[in-house]
Amino acid sequence: MRATLIHGTRDIRLEEVPDPTVQLPGDAVVRVVAACVCGSDLWPYRGVREVKQPTRIGHEFVGVVEAVGSEVSTVRVGDFVIAPFALSDGTCPHCRNGIQTSCLNGEWWGSEDDDGRVIDGGQGELVRVPMADGTLVATPETPDDALVPSLLTLSDVMGTGHHAARAAGVAPGQTVVVVGDGAVGLCAVLAARRLGAERVIAMSRHADRQAIAREFGADDVVEERGHDGVARIKELTGGVGADAVLECVGTKESMQQAIDSARPGGRVGYVGVPAGGPELPIGQLFSSNVSVGGGVAPVRAYLPELLDEVWSGDINPGRVFDRRFALADIAEAYRAMDERTTVKAFVQP
Ligand SMILES: [Zn+2]
Repeated sequence: MRATLIHGTRDIRLEEVPDPTVQLPGDAVVRVVAACVCGSDLWPYRGVREVKQPTRIGHEFVGVVEAVGSEVSTVRVGDFVIAPFALSDGTCPHCRNGIQTSCLNGEWWGSEDDDGRVIDGGQGELVRVPMADGTLVATPETPDDALVPSLLTLSDVMGTGHHAARAAGVAPGQTVVVVGDGAVGLCAVLAARRLGAERVIAMSRHADRQAIAREFGADDVVEERGHDGVARIKELTGGVGADAVLECVGTKESMQQAIDSARPGGRVGYVGVPAGGPELPIGQLFSSNVSVGGGVAPVRAYLPELLDEVWSGDINPGRVFDRRFALADIAEAYRAMDERTTVKAFVQP
């Protein structure tokens, strides 16, 4: 089969690799229907994270089950399934507490297990899925093509945006600010609205992203950043600040902007992968009673709930995909993400 490997900085190649097979009783093999390129795939792509050897890549995909091992009980051959960006057994204490990203037996796509078995990346034609019962979620039926983009967001970006909203304690009637206009930030707008926010303020400088934010329920868009951005938030909230702020970038500047935008006693939910050394200003948090929560999103925990709403058409997070690429053009999809000429690249084998 063909699968994507990253060889080094800005070096993405589609290569022929062995077809995966069921190796363990808990494995499934999934034929990928759609995958995507994540903002976090850009860290190794840009050389921010060193690539020591050619490595499989891609951690968001949906597909159809082609084979299952003898112990797999929750998915069957022919099922359409959604794969969260982390693998989990679903049974350990952390999984049962809903933090599947800390699973004691957890694995990551595009890596190897302790015994050296390849765990395929999502940007390929087929994927071996260890711990299929704990990891995969099947849809009620085979979806229409039109629904596939929204289902694919449940692999990562919609669940991650939702995690930011949950971590910030978004509740009905609140004013919510979203920092970041990537796919996660846009999904966070949708998540905040879904949880009953009365007013959502999206911080974005790009017209195409602002349009999606408004479709997802943003009432106001703030283009300014830093001190000016905070001043504008204060102005829009009568000098008070926001009840909840969803930080969806991960830089020092974005975290500070999020904290500064919260009202005294407000909450910041952060899901941006930390880059460039963000640190918490404890003195400021102490004096303002602003609390900060969040982290890597356990999207597996949210999948059933969000799937219901995507399936019924109540939410349409797939709108974040604004360009389609064939798997053969995966290098082009990375370039488009890197140059921000796409919000989120939808890739089909
Ligand atoms: Zn677990």
